[in-house]
Amino acid sequence: MTFETLLYETPAQHVVRIVLNRPAARNAQDTRLLYELNDAFDRAAQDDAVKVVILSGNGPHFSAGHDLREANAVEAMAQFDTVGTWCGFGCAGAEGRMAREKEIYLGFSERWRNFAKPTIAQVHGKCIAGGLMLVWPCDIIVASEDAAFQDNTVAMGVNGVEYFGHAWEMGARKAKEMLFTSDWITAQEAHRLGMVNHVVPTEQLGDFTLDLAVRIAKKPLFALKLAKEAVNAAQDGAGRVSAMQAAFAMHQLAHTHNMLVHGMPIDPAGMPQAVSGRPAR
Ligand code: ZN
Repeated sequence: MTFETLLYETPAQHVVRIVLNRPAARNAQDTRLLYELNDAFDRAAQDDAVKVVILSGNGPHFSAGHDLREANAVEAMAQFDTVGTWCGFGCAGAEGRMAREKEIYLGFSERWRNFAKPTIAQVHGKCIAGGLMLVWPCDIIVASEDAAFQDNTVAMGVNGVEYFGHAWEMGARKAKEMLFTSDWITAQEAHRLGMVNHVVPTEQLGDFTLDLAVRIAKKPLFALKLAKEAVNAAQDGAGRVSAMQAAFAMHQLAHTHNMLVHGMPIDPAGMPQAVSGRPAR
């Protein structure tokens, strides 16, 4: 299994590090990157020697979000084996759009959130919108001092990213403020809110995260899996899944509304001039 958009590394015994590797595009997520990332998680899941997975990014930023500049995004999906059962990616109107976002956005993020083994997101630089959908599904988030997080999708006429984790990550009030304002959440504030486990000096980020992974990897894997499953069950018992599904339905309504009013799935008035000129969502 070879990857064009990722590195798949084994930096220590029982530890895999998946590195987003589109630095020139600020690790914007196109269809290939998302399918490759899903394949990389599957590879780590199926390897009994792997106990902990680190997810990091090459270049100046962790991820600029979804790659809205991808040409023929629907056709690109035909190159990969479908993971979900919804399908119908080429269907007209809301049907095709919902199918694609249910597969590669909400579907993948939920799938990675339910990945059995412990996962650690190692975040530096900017983590914008779709970038949150890579780090929130991880069990632990370690951020460098320069890391900052943003969901700017309300400005683009949508209620929030497809994997609507905000309220679960930082509580209802800050979630609303983050969404209403599109303001950045600094690493320090994310730490104070409980969204981030540790904030470390940028030059120590890799070593700190690897050390944490190695310490976790010394524990029995089955107990780690059960501990993760038990905490996840607490969130799911509190209604996480149904709340996210409701938010996803609203997200699809917003795309359809924007198509009707603006002729495009987002409100162009809110399109940011994001890092490297790539709009992110
Ligand atoms: Zn969307």
